[in-house]
Amino acid sequence: MPGKKRSDTVNVKRVGTMLAALLAAMAVGVALCWAVMPPPRGAVAAEQRTSSAIFPEGMAPLRPWRFIVLHHTATEQGDVQSLDLARRRGVAPAGEPACHFLIGNGRGLADGALVCTDRWLRQEPAFELPADSAEPALRVAAADYATIRRQGITVTLVGDFARHGPTAKQMDTLADLVYTLSDRFAIPLTDVLLHSDVQAVSCPGPQLPAGDLFRRVGERCRGKARPQ
Ligand SMILES: [Zn+2]
Repeated sequence: MPGKKRSDTVNVKRVGTMLAALLAAMAVGVALCWAVMPPPRGAVAAEQRTSSAIFPEGMAPLRPWRFIVLHHTATEQGDVQSLDLARRRGVAPAGEPACHFLIGNGRGLADGALVCTDRWLRQEPAFELPADSAEPALRVAAADYATIRRQGITVTLVGDFARHGPTAKQMDTLADLVYTLSDRFAIPLTDVLLHSDVQAVSCPGPQLPAGDLFRRVGERCRGKARPQ
C-alpha cells in the first residue's frame, strides 16, 4: 500500500533524525567532558608549585624573554653563596650569581632544588661572560650573541657535566622549569640553547642529556595543546 509505504518512510526518516540528534548530543557531551576534565591532581599541584617558585609575588614586571640558555657550574658542589664568591673573584662586578636560576644536586643545595636569583626577581639580564675566555661561537654572530645574552633566561645546574650527568631530580626540575618558562613566554624549543650553542665554550658539558630534556618538554607541550 502506497500510504503505508510513505508512513514507513516517514518513520524511518524520523528515527534516523532522532538517532542523528542523539549521536550529536553524545558527541557534544564527550567533547565537553574532554574540555573540562582536569589533568591528574598531582600534575596540577606540581605545576602550581613550579609556577609560584618561578614567579613569586612581589617580583618586577616580567620582561619579554625570548631565549633560555643552559649552563653547568663545572664544580661538584655549589649554592648561591659559593657562586657569588666565584663571580666576585673573577667576573661579575656585584656579589651575586650571574644566572637567573640555579638547580641543586644535593651538594650545597638540596637535590633538584630550584633557586631564583635576585637578577631574576629584578628581571635584569644575566651578566656578560668575560670575552677572553668565551669568544662568540661560529654558529652565532657577535650581534646575535648580544641579543641572546640580553633576552635570554639563564639556568645553571650545579655539577660538572664533563665528568658525569645531572641527577634524576635535577632533570625533573629542569624539565618543569623549561616547560613553564617556554609556555609563559612562548619560547619555542629551538630557542632553548646550550651555552656552547652561543659561545665557544664546553659548558654545559657533553653529559647533559639535552635530547632527553627536549623530548620531555616537547611531549608536555603537545599534551597540553591536544584538548584545547
Ligand atoms: Zn655556561
